[in-house]
Amino acid sequence: MKTIPSQVLEDLKNLAGKNGFRAASPGDVSDARKRYTGNSQHVLRPADTATGAKLIARCSDAGLATIPLGGGTGLVAGHLGLGDRASILFSTERMNRIRQISTQDRNIVAEAGAVLATVQAAAAEQNMLFPLSLAAEGSCTIGGNLATNAGGVQVLRYGNTRDLVLGIEAIMPNGDIMHGLSPLRKNNTGYDIKNLLIGSEGTLGLITAASLKLYPAAQQNATALCPISSPEKALQLLSLLQSELGEFITAFELISGQGLSFLAEHFPQLKQAITPPPPWSVLIEMSGGAKIPLQGLTEEVLGDALVQELILDAIICQSAQQRQQLWDLREHIPLGNAQVGAIVSCDISVPLSALSTFIDRATAKIQALDPALRINCFGHVGDGNLHFNVFPAIGSKRESYRNMGATLRQDIYDLVDQLGGVFSAEHGVGRDKINELQRYGDATRLAVMGCIKKSLDPNNVFNPGAIFPD
Ligand code: FAD
Repeated sequence: MKTIPSQVLEDLKNLAGKNGFRAASPGDVSDARKRYTGNSQHVLRPADTATGAKLIARCSDAGLATIPLGGGTGLVAGHLGLGDRASILFSTERMNRIRQISTQDRNIVAEAGAVLATVQAAAAEQNMLFPLSLAAEGSCTIGGNLATNAGGVQVLRYGNTRDLVLGIEAIMPNGDIMHGLSPLRKNNTGYDIKNLLIGSEGTLGLITAASLKLYPAAQQNATALCPISSPEKALQLLSLLQSELGEFITAFELISGQGLSFLAEHFPQLKQAITPPPPWSVLIEMSGGAKIPLQGLTEEVLGDALVQELILDAIICQSAQQRQQLWDLREHIPLGNAQVGAIVSCDISVPLSALSTFIDRATAKIQALDPALRINCFGHVGDGNLHFNVFPAIGSKRESYRNMGATLRQDIYDLVDQLGGVFSAEHGVGRDKINELQRYGDATRLAVMGCIKKSLDPNNVFNPGAIFPD
């Protein structure tokens, strides 16, 4: 592998100043699913945007591959240098301040390296809500969330990260700083560059801070876990809840019995709500202001759902502790999967009308290949977003299925494509799904993306090898 010329390294050290440069640690170059190891050896870690801009200008002059790094929780190897080209990581770990919070403008300005949970807590201190919520929230950063347009469990009500951003500050590949930390909700003055950078996975520039929308904090929640006979029933239930309770629905998560069984095996300390785990269940949460009789309304509508045979039962939480237990189960599902080790993990999205067909057909395909394979299908079903993960037979390890992985993945993605869906709902393309983007992406769209990349980053320094082949 090529190394960074010593003069470039020396210049970067000098520009970065005290504490602004360090050697890469194993954690910086690792992947949450333990499939890839990056080869970058150095990390730039400036404390402010102005220093960051000087560093990026120097990287750009030197044609040095610069890889933005947030919390490193990304699941598609977007933050890892994998090719032969020498690269340097640009970490936002020291750019982590909350610059401003306003209850009147209902916004918070956070630097890119602020951990999502810290931003949520800062909002909560003002009795406000920053609604982005995902299992990695204790480690992932606002910069990473914007760069991947992260989703999570409250998208149904509040949208993806993109819907929560009012403005951004960013360093463009030539080192220029774009200022745009506005609290404005309406701005029709030309191209929306912030939305170009959101979801660009660090290929078009470095996001240094964001102005984010806040909402009034929920005064109360009503949470329930309902076993159901099939995913189709989940969609019918969602339809009923939406017509009766509309905007109050905050989360609607499909959980499979397989996922709960993995938890029973690997996280026995977690209290299971129903034993043995039902084949399918949905975790539902409503939230709203103090004057809304949310608990009563939820009980009433779930009572109707029981009569209409949309659900088999309903565990309606009676305490904050019970609610936490249910959410702990949901949030541990990815961790349970990691313990077992998936052969393939697909984060797909299909139209709601095709969701049930997808689950049936994908399951049949997998079972035709090997009926002993285990499937954990779960996710933000209200958004048509499923995590469809295939695991080895009991007693086997994923290493034994190495030859099967690519076939499984393509079978699943072909089906998703036929049903009008996409192969990446939340995690992005990174380096892991480049072939899929080339295979399934619209040709004209790919060409436009290529033009944008070339014109903003002519030296191809920003995260080369992510989204596009290097
Ligand atoms: P990193 O992993 O460091 O980087 C991700 C990408 O963003 C890379 O391409 C990187 O180069 C780029 N990047 C990082 N910071 C910047 C910046 N400041 N400017 C420009 N580019 C930047 N994702 C979901 O969407 N929904 C979920 O529900 C979800 N659940 C998860 C659960 C677990 C247990 C784990 C491990 C991950 C989960 N993820 C989920 C994936 C991951 O948490 C998100 O993609 C998250 O947004 C990544 O943030 P990060 O700070 O860790 O970014």
